[in-house]
Amino acid sequence: MSIDFQTLSVTAGLHEDQFGAVIPPIYATSTYRQHGPGEHSGYEYSRSQNPTREALERGIAELEGGSRGYAFGSGLAAIATVLDLLPAGSHIVAIDDLYGGSVRLFDRVRSHSANLAITYVPSDDPAALEAAIGPDTRMLWVETPSNPLNKLADLALLAKISARHQLIAVADNTFASPVIQQPLSHGFDIVVHSATKYLNGHSDVIAGVAVVSKQRPDLVEKLAFLHNATGAILDPFSSFLVLRGIRTLALRVEQHSRNALEIARWLERHPRVKSVRYPGLPSHPQHSLAQRQMNGFGGIVSFYLDGDASQVKQVLSRSRLFTLAESLGGVESLVCVPEAMTHASVPAERRQALGISDNLIRLSVGIESAAALIADLDHALAADR
Ligand SMILES: *Cc1c(COP(=O)(O)O)cnc(C)c1O
Repeated sequence: MSIDFQTLSVTAGLHEDQFGAVIPPIYATSTYRQHGPGEHSGYEYSRSQNPTREALERGIAELEGGSRGYAFGSGLAAIATVLDLLPAGSHIVAIDDLYGGSVRLFDRVRSHSANLAITYVPSDDPAALEAAIGPDTRMLWVETPSNPLNKLADLALLAKISARHQLIAVADNTFASPVIQQPLSHGFDIVVHSATKYLNGHSDVIAGVAVVSKQRPDLVEKLAFLHNATGAILDPFSSFLVLRGIRTLALRVEQHSRNALEIARWLERHPRVKSVRYPGLPSHPQHSLAQRQMNGFGGIVSFYLDGDASQVKQVLSRSRLFTLAESLGGVESLVCVPEAMTHASVPAERRQALGISDNLIRLSVGIESAAALIADLDHALAADR
């Protein structure tokens, strides 16, 4: 990896301050004094410009190796604003194992508000993906690893296909974080994140970011316009918190990945576990792609319990360290049942076709000690043996 992420995590977004403050202050102001009508220092109104938000935006642009970053009030606000780049009636090709909220936004909002059409294809089938591209296709939407099944997409290959058809290639990099991979370096045009997850890392903020590639100055201008024009911006206090979270991003993601790999290996040997989905395991169908593309395999481990929904419930109720909650990417370990929680808004037939069944359990492995987490899982899984 060309960039030293441990260092970048600490320095990203830092800027000379007029008082010499080492940490960017929270500029809690909605407006700025003008010297004369229309004469200002570049700051007019905080939806348009805010120094605290800009520090975060510079930081995330540096981390993703992009030209410019934009901070939004949530991950979905970032995604919705990126969709606003498209003319009404456009077609999007997306991978089929997406975050449930993205599917809801695509299928139940933008399908009628902007007449967008979406075709979902398996991320491991580039031929099907290219075949789905038609005359109105304008965008390619990719998540890797995907949620909740940890399917991978070959970023370099998909960026090439996208460029061949002059699409806007967007990667939702929430699950990996820029510590593990930088989609822009593989030729993607835009990266989005739910900064609620690993970027902030402390489960105390809802936020989103988008970063545009240095190769796409056209999109830099358009997204800057939309960010202000549609107004789904992040407030200064949350911007401060996300930037503070980023200071430990490299350390945290390293520990998340180390713990998750150990837990995935342990689960795979457990008699009550049917199978484990983790890119760091040789049993993962795309393990070699994971080794090539990822710097660490991330903190999300999904597995199928050999049991029914009531047994799943029993296991969850016996864990003390894995809190039953939606979300992921915080320092503390969380567990969820995607079928009933994060993916409840995905139509039942789609869930079934994808393998999101009621015995699928998703762990967001935190940065506690692996030994304590494994002891906790051992106790939880011993429930009704
Ligand atoms: C959580 C999440 C989102 C949505 O982000 P919010 O901050 O909750 O709006 C989008 N994509 C992925 C992969 C997510 O995990």
